[in-house]
Amino acid sequence: MRSTIQSAFACALVLAAGSAFSQQANDFSDVEVTAHQVAGNVYYLAGRGGNIGVVINADAVLLIDTQFAPLTERIVATVKSLSDADIRLVINTHVHPDHTGGNENLRGMGVPVMAHDNVRARMSKGLNGGDPAAMYALPAVTFADETKLYFGGQEVRVFKVPAAHTDGDSFIYIEDVDVMHVGDVFRTTGYPVIDAGNGGTAQGTLDALQLILDMAGPNTQIIPGHGEVSSVADVREFRSMIAEVTQRVTSLIEQGMSLEQVAAAAPTADLDERWGSPDRFLTGLYQSLTEAGR
Ligand SMILES: [Zn+2]
Repeated sequence: MRSTIQSAFACALVLAAGSAFSQQANDFSDVEVTAHQVAGNVYYLAGRGGNIGVVINADAVLLIDTQFAPLTERIVATVKSLSDADIRLVINTHVHPDHTGGNENLRGMGVPVMAHDNVRARMSKGLNGGDPAAMYALPAVTFADETKLYFGGQEVRVFKVPAAHTDGDSFIYIEDVDVMHVGDVFRTTGYPVIDAGNGGTAQGTLDALQLILDMAGPNTQIIPGHGEVSSVADVREFRSMIAEVTQRVTSLIEQGMSLEQVAAAAPTADLDERWGSPDRFLTGLYQSLTEAGR
């Protein structure tokens, strides 16, 4: 295990889901990587970990995120089934290993990785102080606010959003086909994850989701970090739920409650049927709200 980020994340998975899941999480033998068309030349790949965005042009393929290292061969083979063109660039939406785990393999194949400055900075800290082999997984190209790529005449906009899921979240917008990959700021599989340890914040989550609502039109297709391709209406529902829970938890914090007391008060009881277990969300929310200027 090279990366302490990976270790920490694996621990989080174990804590969240129990040891049976962690055994399953380490065994990738049964994972199938499947391709799904989103619009025109844009696809997403599902396997295990974050949804991978794929932008295909005649002479180049762009990948958005890389899932886990043991899946790289299957990911590359699935891309080959869509196009003869080579993968020319990887963009990471954020730092987590279920989105960056294949970076090192892809760089080994000569594919540069690009991400926000904070992704590289946070990954660097987790990579044991400069082990040259591990450094190979780091993004080779970084940007501070925004950058544009021109792929086969298509403009791909990559831009930093407010610190939401982490402090290095980027959205990727392919305006031409009206598709946006928004990483883990948005997910359809449950409550949001606010990774306060990696700089994520509640207010940033609301602001970044608002950015989607401001930018997207009625036909925009939004690829989430986890779950199903969605519409702006889905994002609106997700954001409203977060705003509501944030308000409830803020008022419990104002009553002086600890995290344990907030959790015991079950502020999401009426929402859990729809969104699942709130434990991780409440933890991140509480950390974010109590660190923010209190
Ligand atoms: Zn994530």
